[in-house]
This record gives sequence, C-alpha cells and structure tokens, in this order.
Amino acid sequence: MAEKLTDIFGMDVFDESTMKERLPKETFKALKKTIENGEDLDSSVATVVANAMKDWAIERGATHYTHWFQPMTGITAEKHDSFIAPAEAGKIMMEFSGKELIKGEPDASSFPSGGLRATFEARGYTAWDCTSPAFLREDAAGVTLCIPTAFCSYTGEALDKKTPLLRSMEAVSKQAVRILKLFGHEEVTNISCSVGPEQEYFLVDREKYLKREDLVFTGRTLFGSMAPKGQELDDHYFGSIKERIAAFMKELNNELWKLGILAKTQHNEVAPAQHEIAPIYTTANIATDHNQLVMDTMKKVATRHGLACLLHEKPFAGVNGSGKHNNWSMVTNTGKNLLEPGKTPHENIQFLLFLAAILEAVDDHADLLRLSASNPGNDHRLGANEAPPAIISVFVGEQLGDVLSQLIETGEATSSKQGGKLSTGVHTLPELKKDATDRNRTSPFAFTGNKFEFRMLGSSASIADANVVLNTIVADVLCNMADELEKADDFDLAVHDLIKKTVTDHQRIVFNGNGYSDEWVEEAERRGLPNIRSMVEAIPALATEKSIKLFEKHKVFSETELRSRVEINYEAYSKAINIEAKTMVEMASRKFIPAVIKYTTELAGSINAVKAACPDADLSVQTSLLKETSSLLAEAKTALSNLSAAIAEAATKEEGKEEAEFFHFTVCPAMAALRAPIDTLETIVDKELWPVPTYGDLLFEV
Ligand code: ADP
Ligand code: MG
Repeated sequence: MAEKLTDIFGMDVFDESTMKERLPKETFKALKKTIENGEDLDSSVATVVANAMKDWAIERGATHYTHWFQPMTGITAEKHDSFIAPAEAGKIMMEFSGKELIKGEPDASSFPSGGLRATFEARGYTAWDCTSPAFLREDAAGVTLCIPTAFCSYTGEALDKKTPLLRSMEAVSKQAVRILKLFGHEEVTNISCSVGPEQEYFLVDREKYLKREDLVFTGRTLFGSMAPKGQELDDHYFGSIKERIAAFMKELNNELWKLGILAKTQHNEVAPAQHEIAPIYTTANIATDHNQLVMDTMKKVATRHGLACLLHEKPFAGVNGSGKHNNWSMVTNTGKNLLEPGKTPHENIQFLLFLAAILEAVDDHADLLRLSASNPGNDHRLGANEAPPAIISVFVGEQLGDVLSQLIETGEATSSKQGGKLSTGVHTLPELKKDATDRNRTSPFAFTGNKFEFRMLGSSASIADANVVLNTIVADVLCNMADELEKADDFDLAVHDLIKKTVTDHQRIVFNGNGYSDEWVEEAERRGLPNIRSMVEAIPALATEKSIKLFEKHKVFSETELRSRVEINYEAYSKAINIEAKTMVEMASRKFIPAVIKYTTELAGSINAVKAACPDADLSVQTSLLKETSSLLAEAKTALSNLSAAIAEAATKEEGKEEAEFFHFTVCPAMAALRAPIDTLETIVDKELWPVPTYGDLLFEV
C-alpha cells in the first residue's frame, strides 16, 4: 500500500478536522455547539456548511448527494440527487443549499410504517443528524455524498431506527447527569453511550452461492445435510486466514478506514467459513451508522472478490450461526467511563449505584431486551447452545459478585477480591497480571471489565433497537433513583441504602454459571425470569402498559409509534417465513424431487439391466436403495403438499399477530418436515445428480 494508513483514515468523511479546515470560524463553532450540546441549528449556519460540504465532495469527484436513512426494514436507504442545476446558455452549475442539507422529502412511502402513513398521505421527511458526520461512498454509481439523517412522518412520528435512538441517548444522558450532580460532579453536562459491536459473518464462493435459491432469496440454507466435517476440530477458530479471505479483509479494512470506521480486530470464528470484525467503540448513534456501513461494505467488497457475504443469523444448520455483541458503556463529556469499577469497586459508591441501576433495569425489562434481539434469523440461535440462552440474566463475575453478596448479606461491602498473578510454570514467560474476574461465554449480558456486553443480537440486525432499549431502561431507573436521592437529607446514607435495596431486590437477575445448562432453565424458572422462546412470543412486550409508560415518560416512543412497531415486527416475521416457505416449495418441486426421480429411474434401469444380463445376480443393494429412496421421496412429496397447504392457509389469516403466529407455529414445523427427508436423500443420491452445491462445497471450498 503506497498510501499511509494515517492519511487514508477518514479521507472520505466530512469530519471535525475537515470542517475546521473548511468552515469559517464562527460557523464551525456554532455547528460544534449543536453537535456537542444539542443546541438548535441556525439556518444560516446550515447554508454555509452545505456549501463547504458540496465543494469538498465535488473536489473528491462526487456528482450526487443523498439523505442516508435507516427505515424500519433494519437496513439503510438512500435516494440520490445530483448537484446539477440549469445555468445560462445550456450550461449547468453545481448546487446544494442549506435547506437540501437539513431536510429531504424522499416520499419513500413503501417502507413499513405499521399504519403510521397511509400511501395517500405519504409525506415523510429526512432530517440531518449533524452528530453523525457526512461521508462519501464510491461504487459503480460514482461518488455520492451521504448525509446521515433521521426519517419521520408528516406528523412527526419516527419512521426509522435512528430517531428513537437519538431520543434514548438524550434520555439517559439527562438522568445520568442528575445522578452525577448528586455526587458533586457539576462539571458533567452530558453523557454519551459508547458502543462497540463485534460483527460475525460467513464468506462463501459467489458462484456456488448463486446456485442456491435459498441463499439468494433468504440468506440461509433451507436444505442441506452437514458435511462429514463441521466445526468439531476447532481448527478454523482463530486459525490462519486463507489468502482469498485475507485479500477480502485487507480491502474491507481499507474501505472502512476511508470512511473513518475504526476497524480494529479480525479473525476466523468457530464455524468453517465464519469470521468476525470488530471496530473500536464510539458514540451509540455513530456506532449504529458505522455498523450499517460495515455490513454494506462487506457485501460489496465480497462481490469484488468473487465471494458472497452472509449476514444471516443461521446460514447453515449444524454449525454455529452469527451474532453481534453489543458492548455498551456510559461516558461523561469529561471523559470518565461510569462503568469503570476501579481497583476496589467496594469503595466506589458511584459505580455501585450505576451497576445496581443496570441490574434493576435489566431485571425489570428483560422482555424488552429479549425483543430487541429478536428477528426471524435469531430464532434459530437463541437458546440453542451456541448463542446465549433466550433467558436474560447478568454475569457480573467473581469480584463484583462477591461485592454484591457482601452488600446483600451484611449491608456493607468491605473488600474487593483481587486478581493476583498468573503463573504458567515456565520461567522464560512473563508473569501475567490476572483480571479479577474470568469471562463467561454463555451469558447474554455480561460485565466485561468496564462495559456490559449484550451478546444476544443477531448478525444481520441493526444495533439500534437494542441500544434504544438499553438506554431507555437505564434512564428510567436512574430517573427514579435521582427522584429519591434528590429528596434525601443524608445523601451518603440514602445512596448506601438504595444500593443495598436495589441489589437485594434484583439479585435474581445475576447468574454467573453455565447459561447453556438445563439446570439453568429450571433455576431461572424458579427465579421467575422470563424464558421467551421466539420472536413471535417476544413482540407483545413492546406495547404492554408498562412499556408504553416507560417509553412515553422518556419521550422515546409514543404509544402510536410503539403500536406501529408491533405491527411492523409481526409483518416482518410473516414476510420472512413466507418467503422461506415458498422458496422451499420451489426448490423441492423443481430441483430436489426431479433429481431424486432421476436417481430412482437410474436405479430401476440398473436393476432391470442387471437382471436381464444376469438373472441370478444379487440385486439386494440396488433394490434396497430403490425402496429407501422411493419411500423418502413419498415422504417428501407429502410434506411438500402439507407445506403448500400451510402457505395457502397463512394467506387467509388476519395480518399481524394471528398471521405471524400461524407462520411460527404451523408453517415452520411444516418446513422442518419437508427438510428432513430431503436432507436424508442428499446423503443417498448420487452427488453428480444433486442439483445444488452442498454444505461441504460451500463451507470448505472457499
Ligand atoms: P472482548 O470482547 O474480548 O472484551 P474487546 O475488549 O476488544 O474484546 O472489546 C470488544 C468490543 O468492545 C470492541 O468493539 C471494543 O471497542 C468495545 N469496547 C471496549 N471498551 C468499551 C467501552 N468502554 N464501551 C463500549 N464498548 C467498548
Ligand atoms: Mg466480545
């Protein structure tokens, strides 16, 4: 690489240093005030910024700009406008006004709105989110200036994932600042949530990918029997990266760095053909934007390398699926991480209060967190011994667990266990300082040193939902705590009592053991923790009375917005399963069943031919194969008819809950019933006749 990485980094971003360089001092100051303190943006400022942004973009080859937004499909959307405007004598000039920067009206009435917009009153607006920097994207369409925006309806309802995220960030900031004031931190005016998402994905050969309708239409294999080898040898995990994949990663990093994304770690994951990328954490809304860009860029770069990037949560049965770990913490505008326990957490009252607040929030709103990690793909992972269980609990580790026990038992925490030294028994190796707490890979919500890692998210989903919920539920507990503590005569005493009471009341949510064990499922039930098994069963949590009160109180969602999101969730689920079911019908009828018939015909032909040539030859192998294949074929045909009937019946159901439940409880089992005989047939039928690339081809021949 001829260019230096430090020069490449952020070169396609209209970031703070670019703004400082290109904006008049006053404009820069005004914009910075808006970004940092949420002050209103003056339209004269917007005009100047727009002009500078346009000049910068055009110098870099941009011809178009777009308001880049995140509708409730969970992916991003954009509509491009060129900068051109007619000028005299048949010429054009390049124009971009402050108004065009601030506000767009993309129409975009076909995005899911859950009834918030009827198409006849379809005005939808995009509004510039100046806290997330504009950037350039280069692809076959040329260079486009992308302006991160929020998307809302004519009546102001949020139609996207970003608006509620920004609202929730304000909510948690407001309440955390109240608490910090009580601890004497008058200097803190603002806190922001930091998020670092670790992203898992699969890479497969693009040509093979294109031969499978299931991968193309649904992102996962709907059929396929496991190759003789899976992930049992753990030889892929952290293994040396294949050349072709390495070339992909190199280009991906480069593209991400240009976009100012702090791509940091990359490695092979547990399943064959599975990998992970993690950036360095940043503010929640920027992290959300960046994660969308990471997913989008991975797909584009994969194509350039003859690969297909699979972001589905469960592309292959029988090996691990993909998730996303949402690392989350709260940081003050003075740079202090509120989740940093220090060496002696038992003395760190402020930390213990925030910890207690998070325990209460997670315990009280486990259902909302569960929903925030739900999508059709994640139904295949959660609770399936490869991903966190569907039951939400919090891992705090040995050191904090001990501090909490002291608080609960004696009302006083007087010591913190220390990590000590790690000795390997080899003198030439350095003595390592041990962390005070080991890790736990089976916990859905784990404290990892100075942050919480919410580990349930699906790999394809936007991280916005999870962070909206996290921010809001923590804001709510902090709000109640601040109400109580602000009234107290003796703050020290009150805060001590509050911590003790909170951790005592919510100790059931703390679990440091093996989340994959059956005992935990029983134990969790005894503790009264919800075990919500599927997306369809999780959706109602969003619009319970409790949830409406919570989100309305903190102005994150209105009741109307919540109800519309419930509808969108049901609809998204039904649509996803409907497409999967129809794809299965198509593949079974037009690919697998014909292939099996061909094979049985060959077998029958062989039996007849052998019999004619040698009447007393032993035909038991061919005959038993023919019998077995024919009976599986009959089973497949019956299952196919049942699935088709189920799909037809689904179409008669009332849209929303009823339809989604029908898909989950009736169509999904019908799909499984069709898959089973076909997968067995795959292991019997001549490979030459099998019409699609197999798991072995896809997972091991990248
Ligand atoms: P691990 O999962 O092994 O703990 P890291 O410590 O490298 O790995 O962190 C994983 C992710 O968590 C990275 O994206 C990292 O930037 C992010 N992260 C680290 N510290 C914080 C923090 N205080 N708040 C939010 N995210 C963080
Ligand atoms: Mg991690």
